[in-house]
Amino acid sequence: MKSDVKINRVETDLLILGGGSAGLWAAHRFSELMPGRKVTIVDKGPQDWGGLMTMAGGDFEAVLPPDTVDEWLEDLVYYFDGLCDQPLMEALLARSGDRMRDYERFGCEFFHTPDGRLKSVPQRGLPHVKLYPAQQKGRGGELMAKSLVARLKDAGVTRMGRIMLTDYLVRDGRVVGAVGFHCRTGEAYIFKGGAIIAATGMGGWKTSYGKNTPTGEGMQMAFEAGAELQDLEFCRVWNMPRLFAWEGQTHLFPLGARFVNRLGENFMSRYSPILGPNTDPHFTTIGMALEIRAGRGPIIFDVSPLRGDDMILLKPQTGWQKLNYDKLCKLGLDLFKDNTEWVPQMTVSHGGIRAGIDGSTAVAGLFAAGTARSLEPGVYAGGFALMTTAVTGHMVGETAAAWLKDADAAPALDEDEAMARLDRAYAPLGRTGADTLTPKEVLTKLQAAVFPYDVSIVKNGPALERALKEIERIKAEELPRMAAADSHYLLKLHEVNAIAFVSELYVRASLTRKETRAGHFREDYPHMDPAGPAWFFIRHGAEGQPEFVRERVPLEKWKVPLTRCYQDNFNFVAAEETAKA
Ligand SMILES: Cc1cc2nc3c(=O)[nH]c(=O)nc-3n(C[C@H](O)[C@H](O)[C@H](O)COP(=O)(O)OP(=O)(O)OC[C@H]3O[C@@H](n4cnc5c(N)ncnc54)[C@H](O)[C@@H]3O)c2cc1C
Repeated sequence: MKSDVKINRVETDLLILGGGSAGLWAAHRFSELMPGRKVTIVDKGPQDWGGLMTMAGGDFEAVLPPDTVDEWLEDLVYYFDGLCDQPLMEALLARSGDRMRDYERFGCEFFHTPDGRLKSVPQRGLPHVKLYPAQQKGRGGELMAKSLVARLKDAGVTRMGRIMLTDYLVRDGRVVGAVGFHCRTGEAYIFKGGAIIAATGMGGWKTSYGKNTPTGEGMQMAFEAGAELQDLEFCRVWNMPRLFAWEGQTHLFPLGARFVNRLGENFMSRYSPILGPNTDPHFTTIGMALEIRAGRGPIIFDVSPLRGDDMILLKPQTGWQKLNYDKLCKLGLDLFKDNTEWVPQMTVSHGGIRAGIDGSTAVAGLFAAGTARSLEPGVYAGGFALMTTAVTGHMVGETAAAWLKDADAAPALDEDEAMARLDRAYAPLGRTGADTLTPKEVLTKLQAAVFPYDVSIVKNGPALERALKEIERIKAEELPRMAAADSHYLLKLHEVNAIAFVSELYVRASLTRKETRAGHFREDYPHMDPAGPAWFFIRHGAEGQPEFVRERVPLEKWKVPLTRCYQDNFNFVAAEETAKA
C-alpha cells in the first residue's frame, strides 16, 4: 500500500456489513435493545441506498389469520422438495406477521380490496403461501428502506457509504474487525467491532434487474475467516423481457399471464398439466430452455388472459418502473397490451453463509442475516425475500445484543495483519504493463463460462466440467493480471474476484449434487436421490480448499413428513420426448 494513503480507524460495538433490508433491520432491533451502544453500518453503495430493497416492489409475505404457521410450513416443505430447515422456517414464519405490522406502523401501506381487506396474491400453485402487494406499485421497497433509515437516524446509528470491505480480521478464533477502502477517495478503513453482522446479500453475476451489487464478497470474506457455506448449487435464473428491465411476474402468473412459444403454445401446460404457467420461475425457465433448444423459440409473454380489475396491481404508479413504462409507451410498446419477448437470465446465487436460527455462524462474533445466509434451495415465491430479510435481520439484532452482553471485550486488532490485508487489497492499483486486464474483460469471460443453459438451467456433468476448467484457468491466468487505475475500478476488481469465487463453488456444488431436486436440475440425473433430501455444505478442507459435506435432512425429528414434492408436478424429460415425436 502506498505510504500516502490515509488510514481511518473506526471502533464500534456492533459493525454491520451491508445496509440492505437485513442490515437495516438488524441495526433497528439492536438499537431498541441496547440504546446508547454504538452501531455502524458500512456499505459499498451510497449511504442511503438500502440495498436491493430500494428497487423492490415491496411485496411481503406474512402468515396472517386465518392462515397458520403450520399450514405455510407444510407448503414450504413441499415446495423445497424436503430441503426445508423446518425449525428455522417455523421461527421465521412465526415472526413474519409482526414485521409486516411494523412496516404498517412505520407508514408503509399494503394494498386493500374495495371492502377494506388486505389484498393477497397466491403463490406458485401453493395452497397457503401468498404475498401482500405494496400499495405503491413500483415504490414499495423504496418506502420500506426510507422508513427504516428514518428510525435509524433517530436511534443515532452511523451509516457509512461507498466503502468496500475486503477482509475480516480474526483474532483467537473470533472476528474482531474488517478492513476496506473508500471507492471514491481511496482512503483505507480499519474497523473494530465487538460483534459483527454479515448482511452483504447474495453472490451474483452482474446482470440486469437491478442485480449489479450482489457479487459475493460477503461469502468469500466469511469463508476465508472460517465460516461454512451452503446451497451454492442453487442459482436464480429469472425470466425477463429481452429489451428492458421489468419486475412483476410474481403477480402476473398467479393472475393468469403465461409464456407461449413461437407456435403460440402455452408450453408449461405440457411440462406440468397440473400447475401450467403458475409455477416457480426455476421450472418455467427449464421449460423455456427446452422450447428454445427444440427450435420453438422465441418465448413470448402473453398477458391477454389477465382480468381488467387485476391490472391496477401491475401498473406502476411511481418509481423506476413508471419511468420505464412511460418511456416504452412513448416508443409504442404497452407491456400490458402488447406481447413481448422474454428470456431466461442467470442473476444471483441462492447460496450463502451457513448459520443457525439465531444467525450465529461457525466463527465466534460473526453473525449472518438476510440473503447473505443460506436459506432457499433455489425456488422463489414472491415476497419471501423481503419477509426473510426483515425477520432474519430482526432476529440477528437480538442475537448480537445478547452475545455482546456476555462476551468478553474484543481483543485488540493485530495491526500487522490489518496492514497486510490492506496491502493485498490495494496491490492491483500498482499493476501496469501490456498484459494487464480490466475487471470487465475478466467478468465477461466468467459470465461466458457459467451462463450457457447446460451450466445454469438444464445442467449436465460434461458441461459443468467444461465450465469448471475455464473458471480454474481464469483464476490462475487472468485474476492475477487484473489491474485498477483508481479506487472505483479497484472496487470492480474485488467484485470480479468474488464472482470468480462464487462461480467456482456454484459449479463444484452443482457437480456434487447428483440428483434433481428443488432449484437444481441435472439432465443426466433427472430424479431425486432415493436416499432422501440432503444438504451439501462447504467447509475448509485440510489444505484450506473447499470441501463438500453431505448432511442428511433429519426429517424423522421434524414436524412435517415429506409426503409430496413440488418437483413431481413436472416431467420435462417425457414431455420433451413427446413433443419431439
Ligand atoms: C427489482 C427488484 C424487485 C424486487 N421485489 C421484491 C419484492 O417485491 N418482494 C420481495 O420479497 N423481494 C423483492 N426483491 C428481492 C429483495 O429486494 C432482496 O432479496 C432483499 O432486499 C435483499 O436484502 P439483503 O439485505 O439480504 O441484501 P442486499 O439488499 O443485497 O444488501 C446487501 C448490501 O450489502 C452491500 N455489500 C455487499 N458486499 C459488500 C462489501 N464487500 N462491502 C460493503 N458493502 C457490501 C451491498 O452494497 C448491499 O447494499 C426484489 C429485488 C429486486 C432487485
